[in-house]
Amino acid sequence: MTPKEVLSKYWNYNSFKNPQEDIISSVLNENDTLAILPTGGGKSLCYQIPAIILDGLTLVISPLIALMKDQVQNLQSKGISTSYITNELDQNVIGKILDDCQSHKIKLLYVSPERLQSKLFIERLSMVDIALIAVDEAHCVSEWGHDFRPAYHRISRIRHLFPKVKILALTATATEKIQNEIVEKLDLKEPSIFKSSLKRENLSYNVFLSSDKKSDLIYFLKKYHGSSIVFVRNRKLTYEISNFLIDNGFDADYFHAKLTKEEKEKKQYEWTQSNSRIIVSTNAFGMGIDKPNVRSVFHIDLPNGIEAYYQEVGRAGRDNKESVGIYLFNPEDRIQAESIFKANLPSENDFIKISNCLFSQLQIAEGELTEINYQLDLPKFAEKFGLNLKMVIQFIDFLNTKEIIQQKNYSQNSTIRIKVSPHSASLENNRILEYLQRHYPGIFVQNREVSESKMAFDLHLSIGDIRNALHDYFNTDLIDYSDRFLMRFRFLVPRNSTAFTKKLWKDFESIQINNWKRLQAMAYYAEQNAICRERLLFGYFNQKTDENCGKCDVCISKQKTVDFSSIELIDYLKEQPRTQNEILLKFLNSPKEKILAELQFLIDELKIQPIGLDSYKLIE
Ligand code: ADP
Ligand code: MG
Repeated sequence: MTPKEVLSKYWNYNSFKNPQEDIISSVLNENDTLAILPTGGGKSLCYQIPAIILDGLTLVISPLIALMKDQVQNLQSKGISTSYITNELDQNVIGKILDDCQSHKIKLLYVSPERLQSKLFIERLSMVDIALIAVDEAHCVSEWGHDFRPAYHRISRIRHLFPKVKILALTATATEKIQNEIVEKLDLKEPSIFKSSLKRENLSYNVFLSSDKKSDLIYFLKKYHGSSIVFVRNRKLTYEISNFLIDNGFDADYFHAKLTKEEKEKKQYEWTQSNSRIIVSTNAFGMGIDKPNVRSVFHIDLPNGIEAYYQEVGRAGRDNKESVGIYLFNPEDRIQAESIFKANLPSENDFIKISNCLFSQLQIAEGELTEINYQLDLPKFAEKFGLNLKMVIQFIDFLNTKEIIQQKNYSQNSTIRIKVSPHSASLENNRILEYLQRHYPGIFVQNREVSESKMAFDLHLSIGDIRNALHDYFNTDLIDYSDRFLMRFRFLVPRNSTAFTKKLWKDFESIQINNWKRLQAMAYYAEQNAICRERLLFGYFNQKTDENCGKCDVCISKQKTVDFSSIELIDYLKEQPRTQNEILLKFLNSPKEKILAELQFLIDELKIQPIGLDSYKLIE
């Protein structure tokens, strides 16, 4: 079959997106290949189609277990024999999967990069007929990138075991530095490099200085009608801003990672169906959502970095109609982002202290590797040793990505099922169980995701009280309770204090230094107003251009022609004095800067006079 036939047979699509076809040809022609395509550009097909065409197994290295499972399910549903191996599977299952790979029963095998550390796995793999190695999210190999995964460095060793096998590396974000690092660390040989342009003709990138973000948000939402996403820093702000918008007559909703699965699906669905709804969200929103008619994307806090910013704004205008990205910026944003960053940042001392407390709590001796599955109550652990809970969580996550530990129940939410009947006497006069019954339909039948913090808020109790009560009910067999604060894990390597104080700390520190640099690059992007925003963004990804976009705030402010006349403004003020907001709304189609400049000009010319803080009247 040709790639095109495979595309229509299995996916039912009739044409390739540029440059999918070239990438696939390059792979089929046995070149090492690097593909840099924005999110949603269709990278997966670039290895899935060759996998179907080539004889032998395509090994896909992918960093996110959740995404891996999605992809595998999706391919299986199309009748393509696909499997994955993660730490969650037991050795027998893994053995069986590898048998199937060896006997050509499986076309695609997804594995995490850490899997390549297992000698047993490598030994078994060497007996498999491998056709292609696909490295998804290849920027994870870069120590300077935002998702560095040390295990990616092992990929080049695999390739030495299979000198004939070609590599296809795929990523959405690659600065020149990262691109070079991918080629070097994956040991790509004379790779063909494909890069689709970052340019989106119908999208403009804007930064507006804002001292009152809420009222500026309203101003711009009135100016740009239609569906919108407003990205904010934390959960609390999602409630606050969406309520504020609703109070001002907008159709708004909020979204964040701690919602239950049902709530998320409902909110996403309703937003996708609507032409006017504004969703106020943390950066949890948008992955895998393909809504065509998003007219505007707002940021009201400093975005996490230029990579993230470009992707978030990119959710606007998929229908190719004019759309805007607007960052309502204030110099305070940088100061705030820096202080939040520093507040949760463990120092070297904190880092070592947390590791010592952990081993002492679990009673693990130097050099010892236990087989025990531990259970650790993170808030209690932090309290007992006087540690900052956020730092502890960061530390544990870090150990998990480094495969020092293997976390068993990583989940954003706790789940509960009530095990007694709805009429049971034990439910009577119990506020917590009543609450669960009222807010989580179906909780008698199946496990429901719940939020202890929302419960605590609604019932005026502390999260600790709620958890204690729930654990009591669990112990007396009233409920099933999987508590997300109870971390279950085991160690994969023996305790090695020197590693913690030297190598691991250094690794951790270098990740943090890169996060810091990313924050600074983003702040620079927002603070400067001399270079076209689009040029600056693209320059960051090394797509250098001499052309200004002509429509970002920087370009507009440089344009000489004014499409807004002082006569109209004077006419408007003739009727009666007006507030600044009234004036801005009246001339919605003109750039705000121009109006403000015109007002200042008329004041200087003694044509109008400011009254109070923000009103103007005509001088007769
Ligand atoms: P990426 O990994 O680059 O972010 P995906 O591979 O997840 O992108 O693809 C994004 C979406 O585009 C998927 O829903 C996929 O089915 C769709 N897609 C990919 N290629 C095509 C194509 N040639 N025609 C239509 N849709 C496509
Ligand atoms: Mg992808």
